[in-house]
Amino acid sequence: FNMLFIKNGLVNMKEKLSIIIPACNEQENIKRIPSELMPVAKKIGNFEIIIVDDGSKDLTAKIAKQLSRDRRIRLVKHEKNMGLGAAIRTGISNSTGDLIVFLDADFTFHPSEIPKLLEKYNKGNYDCVVGTQFGRGGKTKMQFHRKILSKGVNTLYRIFLGRKITSMSSIFRLYKKSALRGISMKSNNFDICAEMLFDMIKKGRNVVEVPVTLTTRIYGKSKINNRKEIKNHIKILTKILKWRLFG
Ligand code: UDP
Ligand code: MG
Repeated sequence: FNMLFIKNGLVNMKEKLSIIIPACNEQENIKRIPSELMPVAKKIGNFEIIIVDDGSKDLTAKIAKQLSRDRRIRLVKHEKNMGLGAAIRTGISNSTGDLIVFLDADFTFHPSEIPKLLEKYNKGNYDCVVGTQFGRGGKTKMQFHRKILSKGVNTLYRIFLGRKITSMSSIFRLYKKSALRGISMKSNNFDICAEMLFDMIKKGRNVVEVPVTLTTRIYGKSKINNRKEIKNHIKILTKILKWRLFG
């Protein structure tokens, strides 16, 4: 059995965990890694943190470089902005762990939520544990209009898929790295999260959700382009519909 419980509910993992943080203009947020992520990561035990600087124009890369004096933290850089999808692929190809957790640089899914993903992973033979702010027990403090959009898109995904997946679109997830082999990751944009999860479901990977809390950003700005993302989600929804109807 691959874990030991410790008193405060965190887990001590045998498998190595890669925590991948895509970051575009997140200088104020990157600074929070030592005080807010490190204490959690240390309790997990065997880990690496990979900051993917996606062509930031602020001090993100410089600060990440300083942080990488701690050998458990690594910086990988895109010379120019390539999008969240590209940052996710770069993070995966540079990771050395058996497990991968994606963390938003703005900590809207806070690092203290990571143990929830790991505890669920340890309870079953899962390939992917999705943190959900929408399912039973999940919480969200998003702004009203964003909540409506996100809930709407995710409700469509749930209906189209015919599965109890309440959060197809968010980044905060754990993947077993070996289960990512052959999974589609073509998008350069935010919809890569839905693309990957749909392909995992299609290919019969064992996907489960666990309730988490999503908060709002304290520092920096959101980079999401709602128009573009809605268009991309419609493309994926269409693919899902075709799959449901024609196999
Ligand atoms: N991000 C990135 N490249 C991009 C856009 C976003 O690496 O081109 C990162 C960003 O720094 C953050 C995560 O992806 O860590 C999610 O982006 P953001 O918080 O702006 O989106 P939101 O949470 O508002 O949907
Ligand atoms: Mg965010």
